[in-house]
Amino acid sequence: MNSTIALVSQFTPEEERRWLTALNARMSDFNLLPFSKISPDELLKLRVAIVANPSERQISQLTSLKWVQSLWAGVEQLVEQLEDRQIKIVPMNDPNLANDMANSVLLWCLHLQQNTPIYQRQQSQMIWQPHSNKAVKETRIGILGLGKLGQHSAIRLKEQGFKVSGWSRSAKNIQGVHCYFGNDRLEEFISNTDILVSLLPLTKETENLLDTQRLSWLPVGSSVINFSRGAILDEAALISALDKNSISHAVLDVFRKEPLPASHALWRHSQVTILPHIAAATNINSASKIAANNIIEYFQNDTIPASVNFQKGY
Ligand code: NAP
Repeated sequence: MNSTIALVSQFTPEEERRWLTALNARMSDFNLLPFSKISPDELLKLRVAIVANPSERQISQLTSLKWVQSLWAGVEQLVEQLEDRQIKIVPMNDPNLANDMANSVLLWCLHLQQNTPIYQRQQSQMIWQPHSNKAVKETRIGILGLGKLGQHSAIRLKEQGFKVSGWSRSAKNIQGVHCYFGNDRLEEFISNTDILVSLLPLTKETENLLDTQRLSWLPVGSSVINFSRGAILDEAALISALDKNSISHAVLDVFRKEPLPASHALWRHSQVTILPHIAAATNINSASKIAANNIIEYFQNDTIPASVNFQKGY
């Protein structure tokens, strides 16, 4: 076939080498090249690219692009970069990633349900003090966002016996999960949640969704897990709610600024667990296979997989 496909990223040379090897193994009929190895004339002609955090400069040189295959599931930055040009964005849709996210959500919900953060604090002071906790079947987990990751997580939690509800933009029907939709039902949803898990994409509508007012709807003593994007949560509002003990603990994997600056108060807050954006990492083997298959399918049958809806922003 020998069509040129660009890998457009800001990978280190070692990361780039690993991705090129993994992708080439699955699309050897193509001439897959890193952006830096493609001539300016050739760049102007490319219709499709595989992308991972491309820079504005790189994107601006790809003037014939029809669509991009993202190596990441979260595509907020690409939406900002490509919306004006209406270039289709295909997020990484990998069942392995959804499975990893469901495991991370389950792991941290169990930690919170079993009071692990309290025992970790007690250990640092050598305090031997048991605390009562709600049983799994009494613990209400509310998942914001019932997309690929949210649905998988909801089902995993349900299978373990938690009381699970979810909130999305459109109506959903997931067996055993109480599904809410729309802004009108958000207060009712949050007020009936012991552990609130964010798996929402960051859009104009979801930015700062978890502000002072909405966090105040949580029952006293509840917890928050943010595994989606930092800007969905008002960090100052969260710290204030933790200081008042209206929220007992937060597990945060994502932040407005990453890496989280050393000076940030969240690092030192005893009721916060900080994770370095690892709740569900892209698996290079499965993601390469999915990206390669999507590109092969495009060149064979002219079909582009499901892409971002720019009206909705995800
Ligand atoms: P997705 O399939 O696009 O699902 C998004 C969900 O959010 C949908 O259920 C959607 O509702 C809902 N939603 C969006 N805007 C809403 C609004 N204004 N009101 C109510 N519901 C709204 O996304 P996904 O693949 O599950 O991924 C979710 C996010 O996870 C990504 O965008 C990314 O930021 C994050 N992520 C984090 C990690 C990590 O390691 N921490 C890894 C991968 C991804 P509808 O179903 O009604 O459209």
